[in-house]
Amino acid sequence: MDKIKMTTPLVEMDGDEMTRVLWAWIKEKLICPFVDLKTEYYDLGLLHRNETRDQVTVDAANATKRLGVAVKCATITPNRQRMEEYPELTEMWKSPNGTIRSILDGTVFRTPIIIDAIKPVVKNWKKPITIARHAYGDVYKSVDFHTDEPGECTMTFKGASGAEKTVVVQKVDGPAVWQGAHNKDSSIRSFARACFQYAIDTKQDLWFSTKDTIAKVYDGDFKQIFEEEYQQTYKVKFEELGLTYFYTLIDDAVARVIRSEGGYIWACKNYDGDVMSDMVSTAFGSLAMMTSVLVAPDGTMEFEAAHGTVTRHYYKWRKGEKTSTNPMATIFAWSGALKRRGELDGLTDLVRFGQALEDASLQTLMDGVMTKDLLGLVEPGFQARGVDSEEFLDEIAKRLADKLA
Ligand code: NAP
Ligand code: MG
Repeated sequence: MDKIKMTTPLVEMDGDEMTRVLWAWIKEKLICPFVDLKTEYYDLGLLHRNETRDQVTVDAANATKRLGVAVKCATITPNRQRMEEYPELTEMWKSPNGTIRSILDGTVFRTPIIIDAIKPVVKNWKKPITIARHAYGDVYKSVDFHTDEPGECTMTFKGASGAEKTVVVQKVDGPAVWQGAHNKDSSIRSFARACFQYAIDTKQDLWFSTKDTIAKVYDGDFKQIFEEEYQQTYKVKFEELGLTYFYTLIDDAVARVIRSEGGYIWACKNYDGDVMSDMVSTAFGSLAMMTSVLVAPDGTMEFEAAHGTVTRHYYKWRKGEKTSTNPMATIFAWSGALKRRGELDGLTDLVRFGQALEDASLQTLMDGVMTKDLLGLVEPGFQARGVDSEEFLDEIAKRLADKLA
């Protein structure tokens, strides 16, 4: 069989621990036998980031801007414990995802992979719900303090022009806590653009929610910027595709989400997205089945799994034991990136391959062959057999070869 050809490379960012092991197997068993794979390879493994003083992360992000599509393996974000585990580290390097996100000015969209054998906790959810979280500002970049005596707190903005604006936050008669938060119009606008763009690319409705009845100016700004972007740039395309942009209050959104069938993108402010993405992913089943894509306002995309490097499994594997680590989200990162590359380059065979890879993976699960993390989640009566990661990948490879034959 002739291998499927690529024209433009995609950016490949390798990573750490168990996901790095899965990464190599996925390429070896599921991709390279069928595709004449072209990638620009960047090793974001912790030790290589350390050797390059993290320049490799910046280079990978810039390459993504240039080539438009990337696929990323999970990576270690070092903390104090990791500094002890890897004594050669010269610095506690920042989160690669944070670095890439800020260079691409991107928004993260998380979508569960769903199968009939695993029903979401919310019974009426039939299609995936994608959460888009604004990843800048609000409480995550706020300052706060505690005061012990009666008094008054004011907030002052000093403009570069010299103009000042002051408001009284509150007058209190005893101990109190205070918080100053901000967001930037430019960041909100990028967020809005990434959301509208991704809705168009994936042909899904877009919901956006804030609490603008209470935070009239703050959340009002979000609402207004989304509305401006929609009217000015995206409305025509939405109407052409039969898509809806729908703004509502966060509490109303929560109620509607629970009663919905799914199948849309829910754009959330930073805190709402943090909380709601955990709720939605748990209700759909498992973190191991959650995909993630970073989307820049210009449509540049970086695909990855939402989970981390699965450290506990890695230490078992290093001792020579087999592990039953679930590769689904990492496989879908690859299929997503290949499909996107194919769409951008007009390569229908590559798009079809990405789809076949997803179908073969889902078929394997539906045939009752799965990693052990999923066994406890399947519907009563569904016959399933727990296998290790390599056997699971081999089972997918068999079905994939059949589909492509
Ligand atoms: P994690 O790697 O996601 O793993 C947490 C636990 O969830 C695992 O121990 C495992 O549970 C289960 N799990 C996650 N993915 C699984 C899979 N594919 N198959 C089977 N089980 C899975 O999170 P963590 O332990 O908090 O973080 C480990 C490292 O990953 C950290 O160094 C962190 O910095 C990094 N991290 C990276 C990213 C990223 O690059 N995007 C994201 C998050 C975390 P059991 O042990 O019970 O089997
Ligand atoms: Mg959270």
